[in-house]
Amino acid sequence: MLPVLAKPNVCIRDQKRVEEIILSLQNGGASKLQIISDFDMTLTRFAHNGKRCPTSHNIVDTSRLISEDCKKTLKDLLDTYYPIEIDPSRSVAEKLPLMVEWWTKAHGCLVEQKIRKDQLEMAVRESDAMLRDGFKPFFDKLYEHSIPLVIFSAGIGDVLEEIIRQAGVFHPNVKVVSNYMDFDDNGVLRAFKGELIHTYNKREGALKNSGLFNQQTESRNIILLGDSMGDLSMADGVENTENILKIGFLNDKVEERREQYLNSYDIVLVKDESMDVVNGILQHIIAKN
Ligand code: C5P
Ligand code: MG
Repeated sequence: MLPVLAKPNVCIRDQKRVEEIILSLQNGGASKLQIISDFDMTLTRFAHNGKRCPTSHNIVDTSRLISEDCKKTLKDLLDTYYPIEIDPSRSVAEKLPLMVEWWTKAHGCLVEQKIRKDQLEMAVRESDAMLRDGFKPFFDKLYEHSIPLVIFSAGIGDVLEEIIRQAGVFHPNVKVVSNYMDFDDNGVLRAFKGELIHTYNKREGALKNSGLFNQQTESRNIILLGDSMGDLSMADGVENTENILKIGFLNDKVEERREQYLNSYDIVLVKDESMDVVNGILQHIIAKN
C-alpha cells in the first residue's frame, strides 16, 4: 500500500478495491488519466488556524463590493441553507428545490449590487481564499504531464479562475465548468450566464458539458475529487470510463457524515487541509511512466 494512505485521517472502506483501482490507474499511466475536481472546499481549504475559509461566493459576499444590507441577507441565506446542504438525514430530492432557492436568491442579491468585473481581482486579493497545502505541485505536475484537469464548481467561475490565476497555477490543461457572471457593455454585472449549477445538479451539468470531459479520447481513467455528496456524479459525462477513483474530503459534521462518505467515496480524507494524499497517488501513477 502507498505510504501516504497510512495517514491516520485516511479512511477506506474497501482497501483491496482501492489497491486494485490504483494499480489500474498506474498501468494506464498519465496519458489515460484525467482529473475531475470540485473547487470550493476541495481544492480550497475548509479552515485555517481554526477559522473557516471562504467559498468563491463568500469572497464576493463579504467583500467591499457589497452593501451592508446585502451582506446581511447573504449571511442569513448561508445560515439557513448551508445546514440543509450538508444534512445527511435529508434526501437529495428534498434538498434540490431548496438549493435552487438559495443560489437564485443569492445571485439575485449580487446582481442588485452593480458589481464591476474589474473589481473582482481586488476582492480575491483582499480575501482569505486559500488553496489547500500542496496545491502547487498538484497543478504543476498535472500540467507537466499533460493530464487534463476539469474543475467543476457550483461556485462562481470568474472568482475561482481569479484565485487560481493569482496563485500562478491557471495552466492551459485546466478547464472550468461553473456559474459565470454576465457583464454588460460597461463591465457591470447584470445576470449569471447559462443554466445554474448547484451542489445537487452536477450530473445534469456533466452530461451537458460532456464535450469538455471527453477532449482527450484517451483519458478514460479518472480521479474524482469532491467534498459533497453531489460531487460524486461529476464524472457522469465521461464516455467509456475504464477506472475511477473517488476521493472525498470530509470537512464538516464528520461524525454524522462519516458512514455516508465511506459508502460513497473510495477514499475519505477527514479534516485534511492538504493535497498530500492526492499528490502521493499522482506521483505513484506518474512515476511508472
Ligand atoms: O465549488 P463547489 O461546487 O463546492 O461550490 C459550491 C459551494 O459554495 C457549496 O458547497 C456551498 O456551500 C457554497 N455556496 C456559498 N454561497 C452561496 C451558494 C453556495 O457559499 N450563495
Ligand atoms: Mg465543494
